[in-house]
Amino acid sequence: MWTFLKIIRLNRATVRSLNPLPRGWTVVLRRSCSSASSESRVTNPSILRHLTSKITATGAITVAEYMREVLTNPVSGYYVKNDMLGADGDFITSPEISQIFGELVGIWCVSEWVASGKPKVLQLVELGPGRGSLIGDILRVFHQLQSVLHGAEVSVHLVEVSPKLSQLQAQCLAGEYTCGGEDELVYRTGTTHTGLPIYWYRSVKDVPRGFSIFLAHEFFDALPIHKFQRTEKGWREVMVDIHPEEPDKLRFVLFPTPTLASTTLIHEDEKRQHLEISPEGGVIVQKLASQIAEDGGAALIADYGHDGTKMDTFRGFRGHKLHDVLEAPGTADLTADVDFSYLRRMAGDAVVCMGPITQRAFLKNMGIDARLQVLLRSCHDATTRAQLIHGCDMLTSPEKMGSSMRPTGRRQAARRNHRGGRLSAADAPIEKTTSFLKSPAVGLI
Ligand code: SAH
Repeated sequence: MWTFLKIIRLNRATVRSLNPLPRGWTVVLRRSCSSASSESRVTNPSILRHLTSKITATGAITVAEYMREVLTNPVSGYYVKNDMLGADGDFITSPEISQIFGELVGIWCVSEWVASGKPKVLQLVELGPGRGSLIGDILRVFHQLQSVLHGAEVSVHLVEVSPKLSQLQAQCLAGEYTCGGEDELVYRTGTTHTGLPIYWYRSVKDVPRGFSIFLAHEFFDALPIHKFQRTEKGWREVMVDIHPEEPDKLRFVLFPTPTLASTTLIHEDEKRQHLEISPEGGVIVQKLASQIAEDGGAALIADYGHDGTKMDTFRGFRGHKLHDVLEAPGTADLTADVDFSYLRRMAGDAVVCMGPITQRAFLKNMGIDARLQVLLRSCHDATTRAQLIHGCDMLTSPEKMGSSMRPTGRRQAARRNHRGGRLSAADAPIEKTTSFLKSPAVGLI
């Protein structure tokens, strides 16, 4: 299930009909950035060595610790060292496929701001901006809608753990920028090409207070998860250990007794046999919810996810193909579908959750068909026209990214292979959805 989760504290209806987009908007051709291609990342021995030493010294580690080390270890983490997006990378995302995705999210941001009574300050906050394509497309919308945003103090705040990607974001978004020290909360500042102040942080807790629109696109699925298995003796945590016969290989084991995580994280009403929980994701949602409740704003969380129904979704992706999660750690993306029922619970009652709805429904509601026609009218290059049409189809077609793909056979089958834009005959389409949270006074829409 592909899900948008929208968290907003508002006291009026929040989904609005789309304003027609101004004519003559530019068609953006995505730059091709240099990336460490998946072919060149055959193995990353330093991460494996680091993990095996750690396990030898202190015993099996949780899946969350494994994921955190593999993805965001400050020296050799997958996100820290690579640009993994795009055709040469490991996966592709909606903002990378078509500018229209970001443009429609930009319209959504402006409409949320208008509906909130046009507060003087507007902080646009993105978690995990990747190459900066989404925010870049949004900033173009903001520039085009200057007359609507007139008088608002708009600032841009990016939460990014990867020095490599934050560098790409700065090159893509900022006319000029300066880097802060290692220990500074704001590690880079600059001015966008459209003249707005832009700031980079490692953690969302460092983003200043104030009316904010938060965006998280394919961010929550990268956060570490704990995995649990129901057994005859109760819930047991899945751990990562060294293979007893092959010391340079890792394997999953069940911890024999309850762990701190298994005793504190699992809801008493839980019915599933296997569970994945990201407490880090929960803490981040709590922060968004409390800031929105106190200062106003909204959050749009878009990810592959489910509503508390799925069990084992932990997967690796490398070169647009599935990859064993314990094989050659650090050379592949690790991801787990987002449990939106958990995020809703963590958000609490001060905000209202809405959705989920499919990406297709969200984009159709936001006027993707009309936007495509406007772009096609002003574009006469046959290749670019074909790209625009193909991009829209990728984003909305139920067989592609408009809804998610699910394997019908083996556990490790072709899940999320739409990231690479390829479908396999074995895939059966399932819902890809959008979810919303909003203020208690409003109720679900
Ligand atoms: N939103 C982008 C990129 C998705 S990939 C897109 O849709 O194209 C995940 C992004 O989250 C990357 O930018 C990665 O560096 C960042 N990220 C992953 N874990 C993070 C963490 N713990 N804190 C901050 N950023 C993180």
